[in-house]
Amino acid sequence: MKISVSLLSSYLYCSRKLFLEKVLMLEEPPKESIVMGSIRHEAYDSINKKEEEIATSITKRATFESIQALYKQKYLAILRKAIANNRKRLEEVNINMLEAYKKSFPFIMEESLLRATNIFNFIEANNVFGEELWRKLTPKIMSELRVESSQLKLKGIIDQVHVYDNEYVPFELKTGRTPQDGVWPSHRIQIAAYSLLLQEHFSKPVKEGFVVYLDTKEKRHIAINPYMKEEVRQIVEEIIALLESRELPDFCNNENKCRKCGLKQTCYNEEEVNNLLTIKLQSR
Ligand code: SF4
Repeated sequence: MKISVSLLSSYLYCSRKLFLEKVLMLEEPPKESIVMGSIRHEAYDSINKKEEEIATSITKRATFESIQALYKQKYLAILRKAIANNRKRLEEVNINMLEAYKKSFPFIMEESLLRATNIFNFIEANNVFGEELWRKLTPKIMSELRVESSQLKLKGIIDQVHVYDNEYVPFELKTGRTPQDGVWPSHRIQIAAYSLLLQEHFSKPVKEGFVVYLDTKEKRHIAINPYMKEEVRQIVEEIIALLESRELPDFCNNENKCRKCGLKQTCYNEEEVNNLLTIKLQSR
């Protein structure tokens, strides 16, 4: 059994919610943030696949502006396609395609600026172009990298991995509130889990990771230490036990979380939850 890394943060957020979703198979009504997040992830996935094509197409010295324009043109086409692919889901949360485009535009611009700067600086420092540029480019930025491990019982998609000669650095991009210091505990454990997966995938040590809080444009560092492996392993075991259990976990006792939770109606309706639990247990 391999569980998704995203379940680790869901579990730390509210184990009862995870049980309602994964054991009793309840679904939160679609939320704007989730649909917009899917569009962003789909766009980043395509961006990753385009990187080699863009790098190899730069065959002579170019200005920063022209390189950025090249990225911008490709990325906006990618964004339009991702929005069109999610048209139905956008309708469910009452967002039209133009609104979705306007909301996603800043993320896409930010990404094109980051990648254009990275490649422009590399060309300036190394004077290489085309195939050679792509071969030697560091850091290479991979987006939406899929990783999994039977040993760790984990699978997931890392938002970004920055690849240096001998080092891999995971980045998670997050919307929503930025903590005053450091990162939220669920984000820390996610980076720890991705570091372990990356380490195994590429057989290279991973010493650090970052969480980028997109709304405030803050990049927060996380140092990876050897104790994190045990921490992740323990949470994975707890989740597996929860998914196989027959016992509904207690409420999370956090008013803030419950207020925002799309499952709160059912969660607080004891009779409905008990009925669902009985049906589920009978079908096992
Ligand atoms: S309403 Fe609160 S306790 Fe219930 S699932 Fe949602 S967050 Fe958890």
